[in-house]
Amino acid sequence: MLCCRVGATAVFFLGLRSRRRLLMISRVLVIEDERKLRRNLIELLTVAGYDALGSGSGEEGYELAKTRAPDSIVLDLTLPGRDGLDVLGDLRAAGSSIPVLILTARDAIEDRVAGLDRGADDYLVKPFAHAEFLARVRALLRRSAASETVWRCGDLQLDVLGRTVVRDGSEIELSQREFELLEYLIRHKDTQVTRETLSRDVWKEPYGMYSNAIDVCVNSLRRRIDKPGTPSWITTVRGVGYTMRDRE
Ligand code: CA
Repeated sequence: MLCCRVGATAVFFLGLRSRRRLLMISRVLVIEDERKLRRNLIELLTVAGYDALGSGSGEEGYELAKTRAPDSIVLDLTLPGRDGLDVLGDLRAAGSSIPVLILTARDAIEDRVAGLDRGADDYLVKPFAHAEFLARVRALLRRSAASETVWRCGDLQLDVLGRTVVRDGSEIELSQREFELLEYLIRHKDTQVTRETLSRDVWKEPYGMYSNAIDVCVNSLRRRIDKPGTPSWITTVRGVGYTMRDRE
């Protein structure tokens, strides 16, 4: 659970780790200050079918990691200001387990070791081939997606493989859409999930067509999973979307 030292920042990260199912679009955040390389990597990822976003600074990259729920992060270690090791250390200290691929210079063995010691999942030495970069990202996402099959929020437990939801030891019947919605929200627990994101990742449709259906489905899901007389697990964020919170 949260450490008091990291306080409120930590709640942004709990549950942020990439666990969109492989059929969903995975979001990759590239934090790299070399503009040309950043652009190239984003273009490469986009062409490969990922939802790629980038930042040229450690400060902004850290904020994007908090707010945009990336499934993995490509992190250059030598950044101006808040460098990559600081970003990585702060992410891990705040409870984030988003898989991180660090980018290092060929002669920076100490950086590589320090990065791995601070919680990086893999590293790639510059310059690297595009094919290898994409293979490393795929491997990160695969390991991440496969590693978690049971998700919890308080006494609510969702088993991705068994397709079951249990609260207080009793199974709760959900429609397929309600299950998918709950799975998405619980995977991104403590994160503000926008209606646009739900439309794209759960309904697999452009936002607009399903905006009303999302609200209807959320309300139906609340009736099934919430305990009578207690606040809902799912909080409405006015004008934005929803957040699933573990209140216990
Ligand atoms: Ca750099």
